Amino acid sequence: MQRIVVIGGGWSGVAAAVRAAAAGLEVILCEKTDLLLGLGNVGGIMRNNGRFTATEENIALGADELFEITDRLATHRNVDFPGHEHAAFYDVALVEPEVRRLLKRLGVELRFMTRITDVRKEGEKRLAAVITADGEELEADAFVETTGSSGPMGNCLRYGNGCSMCVLRCPAFGPRVSIAERAGLTDIMACKANGTRGAFSGSCKLDKRTLSRKLRRKLEKDGVAVVPLPERLINREKLARKVCRQYALDPYAENLILIDTGYAKLMTSYFNLEDLRQVEGFENARFIDPYAGGKGNSVRYMAVGLRDDYMRARGFENFFLGGEKSGFFIGHTEAITTGSLAGYNAAAQVLGGALLRLPESLATGDLLAFANAALEEENALDRRFTFAGGEYFARMKERGLYLTDPRLIRKRVEAEGLCDVYKRPPDVIK
Ligand SMILES: Cc1cc2nc3c(=O)[nH]c(=O)nc-3n(C[C@H](O)[C@H](O)[C@H](O)COP(=O)(O)OP(=O)(O)OC[C@H]3O[C@@H](n4cnc5c(N)ncnc54)[C@H](O)[C@@H]3O)c2cc1C
Repeated sequence: MQRIVVIGGGWSGVAAAVRAAAAGLEVILCEKTDLLLGLGNVGGIMRNNGRFTATEENIALGADELFEITDRLATHRNVDFPGHEHAAFYDVALVEPEVRRLLKRLGVELRFMTRITDVRKEGEKRLAAVITADGEELEADAFVETTGSSGPMGNCLRYGNGCSMCVLRCPAFGPRVSIAERAGLTDIMACKANGTRGAFSGSCKLDKRTLSRKLRRKLEKDGVAVVPLPERLINREKLARKVCRQYALDPYAENLILIDTGYAKLMTSYFNLEDLRQVEGFENARFIDPYAGGKGNSVRYMAVGLRDDYMRARGFENFFLGGEKSGFFIGHTEAITTGSLAGYNAAAQVLGGALLRLPESLATGDLLAFANAALEEENALDRRFTFAGGEYFARMKERGLYLTDPRLIRKRVEAEGLCDVYKRPPDVIK
């Protein structure tokens, strides 16, 4: 049987596995920790701003399975909060087991605590196998790398405020390894506005039980709570160090903004605990993730691979990239978008079908082409791309790509002849 190995089980790896399994291939997904979803176990914000359009485009293209789960397990829908409209929040505690069940139903072989550390090549353009930290060789016809861009711990020590004990748990499960670099490619690293490497993840999880009853009630009723900070606790400088350009807005420095994702998601990279507890409602506050959220957060965009618009690693035939590994993309929706295309094209490559390139008339296709072209520009390493805000959402609006009516979005996909393309066997599209 023809086989695909996916390395990394975050949202992008999971999406790649879903698409390759749906195309009828044997799929092995290797994840170094004991959980799927990687950074998707924190976060939870979906459908905000242009992510609404991208979600509906993916659904129309046939990549609906993961969005069905995040929509069904939403704690709140259609919420507006500073700088963002019509957001939905998924319950970060409940989505992972549901995704795990989906992959098992699709027949994906899940290998947890399986860290890939090397590759075996077959000539210059093909991978023959990947090698686990235990020395096992996993051969396949095509490979998708979705190992993300955070960690290992050394990067957080060097470019952040030290290991903050985040959801990826490098000390317990071992460091991320760049498979693209093991294959001979050179990754690129992001820079912060001040020129230092990487960028800080932009939010933390608080235990809701440690908030005042009044604040917790408001959060659970509205999905959002905005609590003004006293002047002495406002730190605008932190905004420039964040990954998330879509939240680098004044209200995120002037207020504590909480979002209900099952936990209380605090929309700031980190916040000194002693200071936080001086704010009304937060007197007993306690961080859940990162565990040391009073001091820092994970550092991201440390190992981004170069790829073409088919998501193929540059110069390779059977090696594909997705998620944060495939560009300076921020977000679950962005990871699912890139991972789905990478998984589908890996299957197409194995089955002898034509590879799919999403057209620029769709936001999903435009993002991929735009992010690639941006790498040629001068300030390339300081840019991040998300449908949810910053420069890419502005571009969506300018180019008329931002739509919020699912019927119109489907029509646009239909006009390209791409409705349910992801559900069609890739080998019939020649
Ligand atoms: C605190 C925080 C809050 C966020 N909030 C939101 C939000 O609300 N909404 C939103 O859309 N986005 C949010 N994001 C961003 C979003 O989570 C990420 O951009 C996206 O989930 C990245 O997915 P990924 O699959 O590319 O990478 P990751 O999630 O990093 O997944 C990579 C996976 O690969 C595994 N891995 C790494 N190396 C190896 C190896 N050698 N072998 C095997 N496995 C390996 C890792 O353990 C991990 O599971 C947030 C991010 C953070 C950190």
